[in-house]
Amino acid sequence: MSTATIINGREVAAQLRRDIAGMVQARIEQGRSRPGLAVVLVGEDPASSVYVNSKIKACEEAGFLSRSFHLADTTAESELLALIDRLNGDASIHGILVQLPLPEHIDVPTVVERISPAKDVDGFHPFNLGRLAAKTPTLRPCTPYGCMRLLDAYGIDPGGQHAVVVGASNIVGRPAALELLLRGATVTVCHVRTRDLPAELARADIVLVAIGQPRFIRAEWLRPGATVIDVGINRLASGKLVGDVDFDAALDRVGAITPVPGGVGPMTIACLLQNTLEACEALDG
Ligand code: NDP
Repeated sequence: MSTATIINGREVAAQLRRDIAGMVQARIEQGRSRPGLAVVLVGEDPASSVYVNSKIKACEEAGFLSRSFHLADTTAESELLALIDRLNGDASIHGILVQLPLPEHIDVPTVVERISPAKDVDGFHPFNLGRLAAKTPTLRPCTPYGCMRLLDAYGIDPGGQHAVVVGASNIVGRPAALELLLRGATVTVCHVRTRDLPAELARADIVLVAIGQPRFIRAEWLRPGATVIDVGINRLASGKLVGDVDFDAALDRVGAITPVPGGVGPMTIACLLQNTLEACEALDG
């Protein structure tokens, strides 16, 4: 029988969302401002629409002001930049989120860099990534931040541990490596050109995987007793959602592991709320 701890992201995220709702309520009672988040969706990507709707719902449940902007996929980059400029100047908005991916004619770095760093609640602006790299984090990318909060909630200290991050995207892998380094782990980052992934994983006390390949990481590659944070969300032809790790087989080998769904996913939205509250406190006091 498996003795692995299954890290319950739904539970940790629900607690964080209750705490945030309490802090928003206290702000309102003290006559301070209500945090406001603007969510911008360009085009009709079905997965993006689902993500955007769940972000708006979470905002409303936490007592935030939420405003959503749905633009046609033919929208010119200049129109999107003009909207961002308006939101940058709107005092009722503390967080601006432009849902990715964007249509091909729009340049993602131009859009990300147009958002005021003080309102960049996704934490993707080079200013905020630079602050994380320089050990002075401000607004941090939500998914890696959520992963760190899960480790905290289960008393897993990365300090001195060997952490292996698989995947090096701007959104997850790279900032996750910076978060783990900030917490004192010895960090290895693997990607498609890594020569011997199983050999890297064999040395890992903590494995954080974000590659988007269903059940790619095999149980026998993992060090017995390791902590595994599986960020991947992959839908199989059957409709079932699975992670990047072969979860069922890994259960008999690892010390702790996040399930998919119900692991990292709920933490991403909770950390978006946390970032919006932090942005509001920094901007308005
Ligand atoms: P990207 O496709 O942007 O990045 C994937 C990364 O994984 C790249 O660095 C790529 O390497 C690397 N990679 C791909 N295949 C392999 C492989 N076989 N071996 C080693 N490295 C590999 O994806 P994202 O980071 O945006 O997302 C990754 C996964 O996480 C997806 O399933 C996504 O749905 C999920 N996700 C979940 C979130 C959540 O809230 N739980 C939030 C965001 C993403 P290279 O750079 O060399 O090409």
